[in-house]
Amino acid sequence: MTANTPAVRGTLYIVSAPSGAGKTSLVAALLESVTAVEVSVSHTTRTPRASEVDGQHYHFVSAETFLGMIEDGQLLEHAKVFDNFYGTALASVDERLDAGVDVILEIDWQGARQVRAAVPDAHSIFILPPSRDELERRLRGRGQDEEDVIQRRLRDAESDCTHFREYDYTVVNADFDQAVRDLACIFRANRLRTVEQEIRSASTIGNLLAGAHGSA
Ligand code: 5GP
Repeated sequence: MTANTPAVRGTLYIVSAPSGAGKTSLVAALLESVTAVEVSVSHTTRTPRASEVDGQHYHFVSAETFLGMIEDGQLLEHAKVFDNFYGTALASVDERLDAGVDVILEIDWQGARQVRAAVPDAHSIFILPPSRDELERRLRGRGQDEEDVIQRRLRDAESDCTHFREYDYTVVNADFDQAVRDLACIFRANRLRTVEQEIRSASTIGNLLAGAHGSA
């Protein structure tokens, strides 16, 4: 963005997927190929995994703190997933959108419903795994969870997939690079919408239409 490009408020994106669909890796790769996009860091009461860093993967908080945030109206959405609370802090999302940055919420379908109700112009994307076998392979491949957790996640993954019709876009993660390109296309196309171009390309449009007298 140049110094005289007027600011366009960022767009809010919801990205949901069943556990094991590859959502986190896809979004990480997307961030490499599209500028001015950030992922919101959620709050959760879940215990951190060995590889997770507080403030980077999640803000890990106590149930007491989380319930206090709900009570104070600090959360844009929240849901209970696998016995833990997850939620998105409203203030940090708003601040980034105001700065002209697109914000991705990596949240489940319950949170997605709340965000659609609160922010009707949010765009939602559902990521599907290519097959049931591949989903199971990916869930086992992580090696981070116990067998009973894997079995439960498989059942929950199947149930999560039934919600894909509630989303604006569906991306099938069969070929990773293609799925990243598909995601990037969605972001690019939204930035080309006329309502956005009228602001982003105001000087070009002003110049082109300077001599026009309008037509019916
Ligand atoms: P995990 O514990 O594996 O990181 O995430 C479990 C599930 O919680 C995933 O489906 C993820 O999308 C969802 N999740 C993560 N953060 C949020 C959030 O802020 N809100 C909601 N509603 N779901 C979330």
